[in-house]
Amino acid sequence: MDFAPSPNAAALLARLQRFMDDLVLPSLADWQRWADAGVYPLDVLQPLQAQARELGLWNLFLPTLQAGQPGTRVDHLDYAPLAECMGRVPWSAEVFNCSAPDSGNIELLQRFATPAQRTRWLDPLLRGEIRSCFAMSEPDVASSDPTQLATRIARDGEHWVLNGRKWFITGAAHPLCRLALVLARCEGAADAHASHSMALVPLDTPGLQVERNIPVMDHQALEGHCEIVLRDVRIPADQLLGEPGSGFAMAQARLGPGRVHHAMRSIGQCELALELMCERALERRAFGGRIGDFANVQDWIAHSRLEIDQARLLVLQAAWKMDRLGNAAARVDASAIKLVTAQLQTRVLDRAMQVFGAMGLTPDTPLARLWSWGRALRLLDGPDEVHLRTVARHELGRAKTRRGGNAPYLRRWMPVAEPPR
Ligand SMILES: Cc1cc2nc3c(=O)[nH]c(=O)nc-3n(C[C@H](O)[C@H](O)[C@H](O)COP(=O)(O)OP(=O)(O)OC[C@H]3O[C@@H](n4cnc5c(N)ncnc54)[C@H](O)[C@@H]3O)c2cc1C
Repeated sequence: MDFAPSPNAAALLARLQRFMDDLVLPSLADWQRWADAGVYPLDVLQPLQAQARELGLWNLFLPTLQAGQPGTRVDHLDYAPLAECMGRVPWSAEVFNCSAPDSGNIELLQRFATPAQRTRWLDPLLRGEIRSCFAMSEPDVASSDPTQLATRIARDGEHWVLNGRKWFITGAAHPLCRLALVLARCEGAADAHASHSMALVPLDTPGLQVERNIPVMDHQALEGHCEIVLRDVRIPADQLLGEPGSGFAMAQARLGPGRVHHAMRSIGQCELALELMCERALERRAFGGRIGDFANVQDWIAHSRLEIDQARLLVLQAAWKMDRLGNAAARVDASAIKLVTAQLQTRVLDRAMQVFGAMGLTPDTPLARLWSWGRALRLLDGPDEVHLRTVARHELGRAKTRRGGNAPYLRRWMPVAEPPR
C-alpha cells in the first residue's frame, strides 16, 4: 500500500494550507462574533467561498466530477489530507463546499438523480447556492437500526404523501437549506431492507415544519440539529430518488465516504489539540518547573502522538481500499475508522483540556467545543457499539471460513503431545 499523496493532492494541500493561514484563520474572530449573536455568518462565509472557487479549492471531496462543473478531481486517498487540514476549523469545510451532510447528499444525487432532479437540486448544491439535510433518525425508534424507521410514504395519484417525525437533522436550520432527503417506509413493503424510499422534499413544502433546533451538550449549532415534523407532506411523484424501496441501500452507500471525511477532519482536530497541549505544557509553570516536565503530561503527549498516527494510518488504509476496491469492499474499514477516530477525539481532547486547567473548559480555546463534537461523533452516523458489532461479525465470519467444514482450525495451533511409547 502506498499512502503518499499524488502530485495533484500535494499541490492542492499546499494551496489549501495557504488559504487556511491567509484567509480562514484571520476570519475566526469575525465568524465568532456573528455566531455569538446567533446569526449565521454568511457575510464572512460567502466572500471566502468566492475566493476558494476561484482558486479551484471547491467540491474537493468529489471522487469524480462531471465535465463543466467547478472543482478538481481527487480520490479518497488524495482527499484525506485535505479533510484533515479543513478539520482544524470545523466551519471551514463549508468554505470549500465540502461540509456534511451536503457532501454525502451530493454523492447520492450524482449517482441516482434523474436529469430533472440534477438540474433542480444537484447543480445548485455543487455551486454552493443552497444547502441540504439528510433526515433519517426518529425520536420514536432506535435509529441505529434504520430498518425500524416509521415515517410513512404512500402514493396518492401523482403525488407521494409523507407523515412522521425526524430529529437531529443536521443543517436544517441553515439559512440556505432548501432540501431534505427523507428516508421513509413504503406502505405494505415486506422486506425490512427494501421497505424504505428516499424522498426529495423541498424544505418549504406545506406540512413540513422545523419544530426546534436541539442543543447538543448545551451548544446550539447555528446550522442546527433539528426536530422536523411531516404532516401530510405532498411531493410530486417524480421527487423520489432512485427506485421505491431502495432508500435503505442508498443510505448505506452514502455513509462509506462520509466516514473517511468525518474521520480525517477528526484527526485534524486531534492534531490541533496535541499542538495546543504541547504549547501550553512548554509555557505554563508549576512547582518550580514546566507542566511539560511532569511525567504524566509527557505520557499524555506521547500516547496522543502514537494514537493519532495509528488512527491516521487506519483511515488512509480505508481510503486506499475504497479507491482500489470500491466502497462496498471497504464497509468494515469504514466502520472501524468511524469508531476509532470518534473515541480518539474524546481521549486526546480530554487530555488537552486537563493540561490547560480550567481554561480548557472555556470558549477561550477550541478544546471544549471539539471535545463535545468528539462525544457527538460517538453517536452520529451510528453509535460505537454498532460499529464494533460490524467489525466483530466480520472477524467471526472470517473465523468460520478458516475452520472450513470439519477440520477444527484451532487444533493445528494446539498440538497434543503424543503419549510416550
Ligand atoms: C450531533 C448529531 C448530529 C446528527 N445528525 C443526524 C442527521 O443529520 N441525520 C440523521 O438522520 N440523524 C442524525 N443524528 C442521529 C444519529 O444518527 C443517531 O443518534 C444514531 O444513529 C443513534 O440512534 P439513536 O440516537 O436512536 O440511538 P439508539 O438506536 O436508541 O441506540 C441507543 C444506544 O443503544 C446501544 N445500541 C444500539 N444498537 C446496539 C447494538 N447493535 N449493539 C450494542 N449496543 C447497541 C448503543 O449504546 C446506543 O448508543 C445525529 C446525532 C447527533 C448526536
